Amino acid sequence: MTSTAPDSPAHLDPRLGKLERHIQALMQELHQARYEQRREALTDALTGVGNRTALVNAFQEAQVAAARGAPQPALLLLNLDGFNALKKSAGHAAADQVLVTVAMRVRSAVRENDVVTRLGGDEFAVLLPATPQARATAVGNRILAALEPNIDLGNNTVRCGASMGLRIAEPHHTVEDLLQEADFAVDESKSEGRNKLKVFDPATLHARQLQRQIVGELREAIRSEQLVLFFQPIVELATGKIEGCEALVRWDHPVHGLIMPDHFIPVAEATGLIAELGRWVLRTAVRQLRHWRDNPATAQHTFSMRINVSAADLQSLEFVDDVSEALAEESLPPESLVLELTESAIIQNNELDRYTLASLHRLGVGLEIDDFGAGYSSMGYLRKLPVDRVKVDRQFVKDLGKDPSQLSFLAAIQEVIRSCGLEGIWEGIESAEQAEALRSIGCTSGQGYYFGKPLPEADFTEQLSRQQTWPA
Ligand code: C2E
Ligand code: CA
Ligand code: CA
Repeated sequence: MTSTAPDSPAHLDPRLGKLERHIQALMQELHQARYEQRREALTDALTGVGNRTALVNAFQEAQVAAARGAPQPALLLLNLDGFNALKKSAGHAAADQVLVTVAMRVRSAVRENDVVTRLGGDEFAVLLPATPQARATAVGNRILAALEPNIDLGNNTVRCGASMGLRIAEPHHTVEDLLQEADFAVDESKSEGRNKLKVFDPATLHARQLQRQIVGELREAIRSEQLVLFFQPIVELATGKIEGCEALVRWDHPVHGLIMPDHFIPVAEATGLIAELGRWVLRTAVRQLRHWRDNPATAQHTFSMRINVSAADLQSLEFVDDVSEALAEESLPPESLVLELTESAIIQNNELDRYTLASLHRLGVGLEIDDFGAGYSSMGYLRKLPVDRVKVDRQFVKDLGKDPSQLSFLAAIQEVIRSCGLEGIWEGIESAEQAEALRSIGCTSGQGYYFGKPLPEADFTEQLSRQQTWPA
């Protein structure tokens, strides 16, 4: 009898087959595990959409495609509105539930090959491969619409809109560039209200950067005395004598030279720096008036100083004290200072403004409406406010002499001002003819290049000492 040796191939065959199958199964498991691991590495654990790494991968793939001629990808970045407040009020578990719902809604609003990711917190990004702006905008609006309905949290419901920025990638972009620019668009969208999509605009970014630079420098400029006041005469039309002046601020910039107020006042107002700037103007102008009163060549006790006051000043609780302290420090009577307020500053007309105006009036400083007629010009408020002067906007004087009916129109304005018991100051007088025409209709005071442009302190002091008058 022949027997097969235990190590013969025939004998080994069944064992080999079993081992092979075992190895195959192991390989498959390993493969699956690697796949799972890879998937996990690309997934946001909470919501199941992609994570930052998924976004980076998708962006790199889209860039390879774009290099081969495909259109650039678009990035939609979303930031949920009021999410932190919601987390505080509803708790972490509810906040997580909101994030999961948002992720699902975003996912359902886009195509299969669009990559939805959560970058952390309440920030989601969607990469749309090869997508031009018009289509990306439509997708963005579809996502915002999908977020509109209330989210049911079991015991209550919440609404969770989003601010969204859109940026189409450029060939030179890294994923960080793309995110940063989309994020800038998100900020712009937030400042415009909720549930809006904003497309990145390089010009707006540039303007914001410039504004930031100006803010940084302006803060320093106020402290290091780079601001200067120029003075422009205000003339009594009947006598042709200077009766006062307006202080107009300029920024003597070490690099850019003299910067006019229209370039930095709006920035100061938008950033809150106006309060500090306003205090500087107040103190400097009042100190200057003291110098002129002390100087025998310029001493004139009825001569008054006008300064421009912004809406923010009226909103400040300290403003009235600042004014009375500044006057007291220089031993000046309150009527030597006149505050010019624009209609738009006054028309806000809230409690605090009314209180501040009344307190200033009680203090005895002059109150004047500036640029009268340039804005809303509701005649009704003229009688109600505690103001005693009106400075008529220069647009009215501009057409004087060109259009014969203009003078009777100005006469009507002057009559309204007079019948309200107010004094009118006419701005923008550029010729002797204009000055004469205004005098002929009963206007009492004027200001403009005809009498003098705004001048630096030394030149204005010189003009004052000459005691120049203009023919009446
Ligand atoms: P505003 O208060 O209406 O000042 C009058 C502006 O008209 C001044 O421009 C002045 O130079 C200009 N002007 C005067 N006469 C004439 C004229 O005959 N013809 C023409 N075409 N223009 C004339 P400026 O100095 O550039 O000031 C612009 C604005 O900046 C001011 O308008 C005022 O709103 C604001 N501003 C100036 N200084 C200050 C300040 O210290 N504080 C605040 N809050 N605003 C200021
Ligand atoms: Ca003014
Ligand atoms: Ca004015």
